Amino acid sequence: MQVIDGKALAQQVRARIAAEVASSGLRPGLAAVRVGADPASEIYVRNKRKACEAAGIYSEEHALPADTSERDLFALIARLNDDSRIHGILVQLPLPDGLCERRILDAVSPEKDVDGFHYLNVGKLVAGQAGFVPCTPLGVMELLRAANVEISGAHAVVVGRSDIVGKPVALLLLHQHATVTLCHSKTRHLAEVCRQADILVAAVGRPQVITGEMVREGAVVIDVGINRIDGGKIVGDVDFDAASKRARAITPVPGGVGPMTIAMLLSNTLQSAKWATKP
Ligand code: NDP
Repeated sequence: MQVIDGKALAQQVRARIAAEVASSGLRPGLAAVRVGADPASEIYVRNKRKACEAAGIYSEEHALPADTSERDLFALIARLNDDSRIHGILVQLPLPDGLCERRILDAVSPEKDVDGFHYLNVGKLVAGQAGFVPCTPLGVMELLRAANVEISGAHAVVVGRSDIVGKPVALLLLHQHATVTLCHSKTRHLAEVCRQADILVAAVGRPQVITGEMVREGAVVIDVGINRIDGGKIVGDVDFDAASKRARAITPVPGGVGPMTIAMLLSNTLQSAKWATKP
């Protein structure tokens, strides 16, 4: 049984990006926009900033008060869209009530939409065209690649259908020729469906929703969930101990998908800078 080490893989990806930035002469830039005081968002943005610095990527943070108007937010985004130092713009979600997430995400230039949330990039992903793909799903695919998992022809079961994780993961697997089943809270016989998976991806946000019995002998299990349980401990969606007795390979939480998300954000930002300088 292989524990797929996302922390080590993320470090490799980040080192590769730093080396490419240093040798390319490019100075990619990332702007993070945060509205209101959400402690979790503050930590994410701080970590993103540190990761940028280490990779030689310029970064700036725009922390706005919770009562910021849509008009002011649009004005900031328009400014960042026009700023040639900035190649990636991310708007930290969730936004406070009263701000329309969809309208704001679509105000970001699709060429700088390193989170892959703009409708144009969503459409490109559905159509299988090159565009920005959300970072966590990209991280899932990198982990499968690094673990030498054969995707073509495999039955992949994705549990969770959110726009930022489940759906894009399902599409990426489909584009790589997996047979994909996408499950959600209304899925009947979830355990039975999961037991058919060669590749099982859990993106639910409920501790232990995937039990050992739901994992087929020899399956590959990717746990996207991040759940804080009593005492502050972080666990995934999968009962790791039970599942690892049956799985061929499995990601831990923490140290699996989580670290890959920031690595993929840096990768998307570098890609954007490269696209911006293409004649
Ligand atoms: P959402 O809450 O947006 O989506 C959860 C999905 O799980 C929904 O589709 C929901 O179904 C489904 N679901 C809920 N309960 C069940 C159940 N009992 N059985 C089957 N399906 C169920 O979450 P996200 O996609 O944003 O995130 C999922 C998890 O991944 C969270 O723990 C989050 O913290 C984590 N995450 C981790 C990241 C990382 O970097 N590692 C990045 C982003 C998220 P329905 O649609 O029917 O409601």
